[in-house]
Amino acid sequence: MTESQRVAQTIQEAKYNRRQALRTTRAGSKSLNLDKAAGIALRRQRLLPKVLLAAAGLFVLLLLFPPFIVPADGPVTSAFFFRFAPDKTVPQAEFHDAIDIGIPAGTRVKPTTIGRVVEAGYNNSAGYYARIKHPGGFSSYYAHLSKLQVSTGDLILLPFFSSVGLSGNTGRSTGPHLHFSIYAGNIPLPPQSLLLFHRLRLHILRF
Ligand SMILES: [Zn+2]
Repeated sequence: MTESQRVAQTIQEAKYNRRQALRTTRAGSKSLNLDKAAGIALRRQRLLPKVLLAAAGLFVLLLLFPPFIVPADGPVTSAFFFRFAPDKTVPQAEFHDAIDIGIPAGTRVKPTTIGRVVEAGYNNSAGYYARIKHPGGFSSYYAHLSKLQVSTGDLILLPFFSSVGLSGNTGRSTGPHLHFSIYAGNIPLPPQSLLLFHRLRLHILRF
């Protein structure tokens, strides 16, 4: 073997060794990544039952202690939506930012959650009405009552055992019902969705 042949052979060997070394490293890092992925998948698998359990717990908690309670149980006779006023005094569709609950006059009306009465009085369109401010910027409004049982400034701590007043047919109203709204600041919210958990409780647990 000549000197140049030996040099060429050494170069070949060096190249071969380098390729082998690279291959080993790549395979190593690949299996390392696989280990990592398997670890993440396993952790996810262990996390899933915990997440489901937490969700079920939250559901039961909201069912037992709904954040907003139904002020009076009865059918919704007018929904939260655009409508023609039933007494035909308003010719075009207006936005009804409340639900009307059909209940006999004299039914107890509960405040929907804890808060402070900021308005309680009478006017020609709402009849006897009350407005309550709640924590978190929420407020609620009750109209067409036959009798008020709160005054401005009253604090409500046990809504389920309190009474805003008795339902009725006062003001611009065509029959006994409760006109009920919930606001977040100045924005009216659909009361039906906020009362969902208490509606479920009324259906399942009857209180
Ligand atoms: Zn109404």
